[in-house]
Amino acid sequence: MRIFLDLEGVRTPLHVRQHPRARRASLRLSADGNYVIVVLPPRTRSEEGLAIARAHASWIRAKLDDRPPRVPFADGAVLPVNGQALTVCLVPGGQRGVRTAGDRLLASGPADAVADQIRTWLRTEARRVILLRIAEKAARLVRQPTRVSLRDTRSRWGSCSLKGALSFSWRLILAPAPVLDYVVAHELAHLAHHGHGPAFWTAVGDLCDEISAGRTWLRQHGRSLFRYG
Ligand SMILES: [Zn+2]
Repeated sequence: MRIFLDLEGVRTPLHVRQHPRARRASLRLSADGNYVIVVLPPRTRSEEGLAIARAHASWIRAKLDDRPPRVPFADGAVLPVNGQALTVCLVPGGQRGVRTAGDRLLASGPADAVADQIRTWLRTEARRVILLRIAEKAARLVRQPTRVSLRDTRSRWGSCSLKGALSFSWRLILAPAPVLDYVVAHELAHLAHHGHGPAFWTAVGDLCDEISAGRTWLRQHGRSLFRYG
């Protein structure tokens, strides 16, 4: 059930769902911080989820207020691209498109199209850097990925299909470089190991030096990547 709930006078998006293995109800923010998720044990009525959200209204409001401010893709926005802070500068009348100039990201074209152009540019940049990381690790790989695609996923930073196709969130380009490197190593290791057992983690360690730093950063700051755009 997806609804808006009035919590302390603020319209708050809420998703209530059952989970077959949930033993008790739980409450959390979505990965992108945009809505509240209530997970209920099987055969629990959705209304109970609403009651739980209402009972924890102050906690929810505090969590939502605690979110980092949004950074729209607009003039003056500072974007951490692969570890380098780039300031968006709109160039009126310039040639349509996005390009870097030192620590500036120059964008031209109609104002309403600029955000889309910047998003496309970041996606292309993410793809370029991820393919570069994969190429660097190629000699140590058991298998090569069959395909690499970029998405705007909300719940996973990367995934590996049984056919060996890798998919990544383009937002990883806004994370520090070692974090992106760790996610690339993680998905490449899945080409040889499906689960997350000891052999899998050994393989990740062979491909990247910063496993725990990468995992910790994503756990603590991953949600902040959704505030851009
Ligand atoms: Zn995994």
